[in-house]
Amino acid sequence: MYQNLDFSHERDLTIDDLVRRVEAYYPDANFTMLRKAYLFAENAHKGQKRSSGEDYIIHPVNVAATLIRLHMDLDTIMAGLLHDVVEDCGVTPQEIEKEFNIGVSDLVVGLTKISKIKFKTKEESQIENFRKMVVAMAKDLRVIIVKLADRMHNMRTLQYVSDEKQKKIAQETLDIYVPLASRLGINSVKSELEDLCLRFLKPEIYYRLAEKVSMKKSERDNYIREVITTIKEKLLEYSLHAEVKGRPKHFYSIYKKMTARGVDFEQVQDLLAFRLIVSNITECYKALGIIHSSFTPIPGRFKDYIAIPKVNNYQSLHTAVMGPRAERIEIQIRTNEMDEVAEAGVAAHWKYKEGLAGKSAPKLDWVQELLEYNKNTDNNREFLDVIKNDLDLDGVFVFTPKGDVRELKYGATPLDFAYEIHTEVGHHCVGAKINGKIVPLRHVLKSGDSIEILTSKTQSPSKDWLNIAKSSKARSKIKQWLLKVERDENRDLGRDILEKAFKSFNTSLKALLKKNDFKDFFDENHIIDEDELCVQVGSGKFSAKQVIENLPSLKEQAAKQEISEIEDIESYSSEMTKNVRKKTHSDNAVIVDGMSDVMVRMAKCCNPIPGDSIVGFITRGRGITVHKSDCNRVDAETLVRTIKVSWNKGFNFTHPVSVRVMTQDKPGILSLISKTINNSGINIRSAMAKSMPDRKGSFIFEIEVKDYSELLKTISSIESLEEVISVTRV
Ligand code: MN
Repeated sequence: MYQNLDFSHERDLTIDDLVRRVEAYYPDANFTMLRKAYLFAENAHKGQKRSSGEDYIIHPVNVAATLIRLHMDLDTIMAGLLHDVVEDCGVTPQEIEKEFNIGVSDLVVGLTKISKIKFKTKEESQIENFRKMVVAMAKDLRVIIVKLADRMHNMRTLQYVSDEKQKKIAQETLDIYVPLASRLGINSVKSELEDLCLRFLKPEIYYRLAEKVSMKKSERDNYIREVITTIKEKLLEYSLHAEVKGRPKHFYSIYKKMTARGVDFEQVQDLLAFRLIVSNITECYKALGIIHSSFTPIPGRFKDYIAIPKVNNYQSLHTAVMGPRAERIEIQIRTNEMDEVAEAGVAAHWKYKEGLAGKSAPKLDWVQELLEYNKNTDNNREFLDVIKNDLDLDGVFVFTPKGDVRELKYGATPLDFAYEIHTEVGHHCVGAKINGKIVPLRHVLKSGDSIEILTSKTQSPSKDWLNIAKSSKARSKIKQWLLKVERDENRDLGRDILEKAFKSFNTSLKALLKKNDFKDFFDENHIIDEDELCVQVGSGKFSAKQVIENLPSLKEQAAKQEISEIEDIESYSSEMTKNVRKKTHSDNAVIVDGMSDVMVRMAKCCNPIPGDSIVGFITRGRGITVHKSDCNRVDAETLVRTIKVSWNKGFNFTHPVSVRVMTQDKPGILSLISKTINNSGINIRSAMAKSMPDRKGSFIFEIEVKDYSELLKTISSIESLEEVISVTRV
């Protein structure tokens, strides 16, 4: 199958070689077309040279050879041959379409677009480039596969370019192309690119490793042969046939191990890796059993990627054992199909099979996720972090209540898991039960955890969730939600501001809309509807004054109107905006345990004031709602999402609180009570009166107090009035 993947630049490769190699796995391919693509490219590149001094055509031919080794379909191989003709030879995509087909020309166009991406040293532009690559990839993954083959050949011939260019290209390869190859599961390409990167980025280490490994070459080759024979014999005792291969491990993986463990070359032990290919999954486990009973397994090294495949679909059993002569060796066991996926990854999808060469790109969730993230972020650095993090394959495996396995990234929390299940589950997540025990949203998940998500209808995302969620999927969904909430908030505020402003002109938003008064203003500012107008006013993009001055029916009146009145509207709207903004920042009456910059609201049901014993709930509408501890909304169910809060002693503003006063119905009683309240220096916001049938009066006063003791004082001064029957807080 994918043998001998560790090959270097083939300088004498001809089209006949390519045809022969394609024939080996795809005998019915249209070889006339393949030869035509070769001749077309050769002709187009005539006279052009590579940095090595060779004819340019050797480059596309080597690129095609890599694609053939991945058993790609014919369009992709032809695109490999033609990948530079639009860019370097002025051939048009239309010509390619005419000579070949639209599939080939689309691929070449995609590649040309990617090649136009100039990787600069400035981080910002690199991110932009990465975005474009992800976008190109989402359309047709084969574009990236050809691009990887292209980069592979350029890396193999990197010694011919200047030192400076070597470093730059190698770094770019390590940063962008290696993670992509890894994520796409094309391990054969990934490993070789890594080794080449090491060679050009850290030559001293690379050559030291090469020297040490090669010093023992003949000894090593003998050892590999010995192990292969032993393994085969052991397996045969149980009549199990396997293809067994052995090789030294890739330099880069040795290097990674050295740096990760901080050890020297001599201390890195298992330098040899063996692979057993068997016919089916049962045989994989059977072979593992035989290996473990024939050699001493090294504890902690067994990994079952068959039961739990990696996100790039990699499947295999991994183990490490004490081989002959007490040498540690690494062993991978898998089936032929798994081996194909392991070496070619996503490329295996297009592998020629019984008369159908796969055409449509497989849908990869993470590509979609990255794209969604892309749309929702304006923070480039964060985007790059997300990509780099998400490309990291080391994750945690957790179980759903039904026993299904999900892979999440390291550091994932119940929130990530909840959003992984469903967006709605994420939005309403209040916590989780892990192995039956309740944990908060921040809890970091471990492999093997069994998770059940706890939800509440009244729960919704808040800003601090962005500090809790790790996956781009969860973060993207949370951001979408927050943006929508902010929009709704701005819309309501804007509507309020406008209605107040229009009212002073004795008209209303509705009336003006009916008159079509907004048409010009809308057109000019590309506003599509009433809601958007309100959003723009609420967010402060336009002031009420600006809107009014642009309305045909109010323009003149506005010019005549007292300036002060418009200024009032102005200051009113800025005041309102400020109030809304303030809510989301620090000056809160309540301090939330361990969190700043979180929105706090007093619960309407119990309306706590300083001095009351309180608890916070993470709750609907992005923030903490503060309840009195004895509020009857605080029950067993909601206790799960309680958060510790305390009164902010430095907060000196008053709190509105309502009291109901029952009185004998006597004339002048309202003013008497009002006076009493005012005399104690308390402001009254509003008062409502209601006559009761039995000659009793009921009033509700909304007053502003600093804290609980001030409220108590006020209540007792009202109670001291003779006519008053009772005073209660409501
Ligand atoms: Mn190229």
